[in-house]
Amino acid sequence: MIRRSRDMCYYFGMKIYTLDLNFQNVPQSIAAYLVVGPAGPVLVETGPGSTLVTLQAEIRRCGYELSDIQHVFVTHIHLDHAGAAGWWAQQGAQVYVHHFGVTHLIDPSRLWQSASRIYGDKMELLWGQMWPAPVEKVTAVADNDVFHAAGLTFTALETPGHARHHHVWQVEDIAFTGDAAGIRLPHNPLIDVPAPPPEFDRETWLETLDRLQAANFTALYPTHFGRLEDVNHQLDTMRALIDEATDFIRAKMLSGSHRDEIVPLYENWVRERGQALGLSAAQMHQYEMANPLYMSVDGIMRYWRKLDM
Ligand SMILES: [Zn+2]
Repeated sequence: MIRRSRDMCYYFGMKIYTLDLNFQNVPQSIAAYLVVGPAGPVLVETGPGSTLVTLQAEIRRCGYELSDIQHVFVTHIHLDHAGAAGWWAQQGAQVYVHHFGVTHLIDPSRLWQSASRIYGDKMELLWGQMWPAPVEKVTAVADNDVFHAAGLTFTALETPGHARHHHVWQVEDIAFTGDAAGIRLPHNPLIDVPAPPPEFDRETWLETLDRLQAANFTALYPTHFGRLEDVNHQLDTMRALIDEATDFIRAKMLSGSHRDEIVPLYENWVRERGQALGLSAAQMHQYEMANPLYMSVDGIMRYWRKLDM
């Protein structure tokens, strides 16, 4: 049985709220999910530190206190997914994260530093801050690990490709997919591949899509943004796009173009796909807030260079 309002879905005794973090005042670009089981709410993804106040307000709007959050599941440690995880751990919540990500939540300084190389002086504006998580509040997660929280069962599926340290969280027959199933925004048919450096990997991502498809989920909840029910369409489109995007950039590299020449070509390529699907300029902007296109150029170029070495 599924009943739905604008941002909440009843699903076999569990309620799923899509929380809009309104990142940089762009609605529906970054989500967190409040999953309410028989024994209370659980948070899936935390968003960045810069949207913590919005996240807190959204949780209260759903009728819960912040102290009700005892369990926090994150798909991976990119700042738009787990930037605020340490704050929740400091409040006493248990945070479940890929075992590669544990040290970065306990001591975020290296992660922060490497992100600073990409974002420079915009770091604080975009991402706020990261709070170090107390060691005992971070649970290291491996493939197929199962956790019980709030009367629900969360299963971790290792799903690399976008990042090496990525899990999809399965609950019943739905999945919180982080970035592993790509990006798709509400009322917006464009699907995009977030391929950031340094870990984007075409082959492992294609295997991840096979794994997600084999699981026969009835709905996906990508962090960007909201519930999707046409699961096979999403995964099939992603599979084709990963090939097309990597081939597009490969061809430009082989013709001798430099990174700064490839970025606008790739941006145009994606924007033309958006235009063909009828996207407005505002919708395209919303997309590029969720997934800056230059980042995929950097990630895919790095992927090819690694292979050529
Ligand atoms: Zn990510």
